[in-house]
Amino acid sequence: MARQRSDVLKALDLEVWVRRGRKSDPSREVDAESGRAAEPAAALDWDRLESAVAGCVKCALHAGRTRTVFGVGDRQAGLMVVGEAPGAEEDRQGLPFVGRAGQLLNAMLQAIGFARDEVYIANVLKCRPPNNRDPRPDEVGCCLPYLERQIALVDPRVILCVGRIAAQNLLGTDVSLGRLRGQVHAFGTEGRPVIVTYHPAYLLRSPAEKAKAWQDLLRVQDLLGDTATVGERIS
Ligand code: SF4
Repeated sequence: MARQRSDVLKALDLEVWVRRGRKSDPSREVDAESGRAAEPAAALDWDRLESAVAGCVKCALHAGRTRTVFGVGDRQAGLMVVGEAPGAEEDRQGLPFVGRAGQLLNAMLQAIGFARDEVYIANVLKCRPPNNRDPRPDEVGCCLPYLERQIALVDPRVILCVGRIAAQNLLGTDVSLGRLRGQVHAFGTEGRPVIVTYHPAYLLRSPAEKAKAWQDLLRVQDLLGDTATVGERIS
């Protein structure tokens, strides 16, 4: 599979970046309240993973959450969308990307031929940081194994990372979003292709950047090898 992906990337004449960053730390697979070793996320099936997240107290963010935001969509999707962390409305509803930013994400997906329920959507963090501050490294270190397991279970052909925080944490880099865009990155040992684009909340504030986001989406479509479903330009 990894060989096939790298062949596709070469055929598209796209540069490949390999994640240099953080690996999940097995020592963090510990229940913070009981101190007992928790079953590693990498060993869990969907049901046990979802219930592990629902009851997770591995980092301090559990104390302020209304609901965990596990993820939503087709668990066998070819395209997986990775965001940063729940905001206020996501925390209330337990769903990622709701509200105006969620609507724009839906439109972006529709533009390349996907209904929202045809992709899988998850965040780096499953609990809302207070006042929507950036995730802290220790919080990401605790939570990332859940996302890594979700990626392994979905086994998407392409990952679309939306926003700087999601991209930097998934790829383990501090390179700016401007430099991460426009290239194909490789995630994990399989070299799964990752495309980075702007967060829809940013695009709502900076609509002039939608043209660049459209280029990113076309690149996703190229990687998925489905040029027949080109939709409308994002408006
Ligand atoms: S943010 Fe992640 S690691 Fe922290 S408590 Fe929530 S689910 Fe657990």
